[in-house]
Amino acid sequence: MPQTASTEPDKHSMRSAQEQLSQTSWQQAMAEAYVQPADLLQDLGLDPLTTDAAATTFPMRVPRSYAARMARGDPQDPLLLQVLPGRAELLATPGFNADPVGDLNSIRVPGLLQKYAGRALIITTGACAVHCRYCFRRDFPYGEQLAGKKRLAALMETLREDTSITEVILSGGDPLSLTDDRLHDLLKGLDQLPQLQRIRIHTRTPIVLPERVNNSLIEVLQQVRKPLVTVLHCNHANEVDARVSRAISLLKPCSTSLLNQAVLLKGINDSALALVDLSEKLFTAGVLPYYLHQLDPVAGAAHFAVSDAKAREYLREAATRLPGYLVPRLVREQAGAAAKTPL
Ligand SMILES: *Cc1c(COP(=O)(O)O)cnc(C)c1O
Ligand code: SF4
Repeated sequence: MPQTASTEPDKHSMRSAQEQLSQTSWQQAMAEAYVQPADLLQDLGLDPLTTDAAATTFPMRVPRSYAARMARGDPQDPLLLQVLPGRAELLATPGFNADPVGDLNSIRVPGLLQKYAGRALIITTGACAVHCRYCFRRDFPYGEQLAGKKRLAALMETLREDTSITEVILSGGDPLSLTDDRLHDLLKGLDQLPQLQRIRIHTRTPIVLPERVNNSLIEVLQQVRKPLVTVLHCNHANEVDARVSRAISLLKPCSTSLLNQAVLLKGINDSALALVDLSEKLFTAGVLPYYLHQLDPVAGAAHFAVSDAKAREYLREAATRLPGYLVPRLVREQAGAAAKTPL
């Protein structure tokens, strides 16, 4: 499961005191996240007894700036429902398991997953700024797979030797949970691999903890010479407030492409209108939609599932109200498939 990030400052940092400060302020924000459902509910003016809140093995984690975008007094708020642990998670559902997309069968070396030709994915960290209840890696054995400092050397050697890999994706967990120095080292190493055409970062942090996108992060990203593709993870128009838009506008100049993937979630964004609003909001912020994922059948998330028939219907209807380039591709990730499967 995603783990809590270390808040220890970098020992070898050469950055100015001011940058140190801005770096630690996002780590501070991360440390101050809500971890008790009762605290979050109380601040939203909700009675814990009237909600479905329950303790589960996947702890709650909600940054305060994300909670600030939730409507007070609404137990069905689409942001709240993504992060509040509920009793529904405790139900075992046939077909929903701990490794829903065959991650464990695609491990090349610890920390490096490859499912598709040409692209490999690095599990950079187990930590995320937020714990999404539908996370397909909520049960991922991060302890065994983290590409920590020691494993990184072996992993880079694998990449160096396999010239068929032309794109590396930084994933996790969330790569922006790494300190700037660790991210810098990782990106620099990849930037020096001659066969890589581009580097991709998959992150939800700019959406849930926009504080993370500070000058020192931007400096790290600006140093990458290869094309950098940034894929955000935003599921609902209400997730994009002024602060998130500002974070996106900072990321834009250092990204060759700035894209978004969303997960279709029952009760959260399962309507044509919600999908239209999301695409419009993202476009205004400078982001193009990439994928709309059907839920990965991870144990504990069955209550978020939307049928394929409904999913197609919402997307077909959304497509009648959007320019073609604002319609995401509806896909499912299937264990063993050679690409995401279009629906
Ligand atoms: C989703 C995924 C990718 C990226 O697939 P694209 O279709 O290129 O976005 C790459 N590797 C793994 C292991 C993945 O799960
Ligand atoms: S940010 Fe991504 S990896 Fe982290 S909990 Fe959410 S869905 Fe999972």
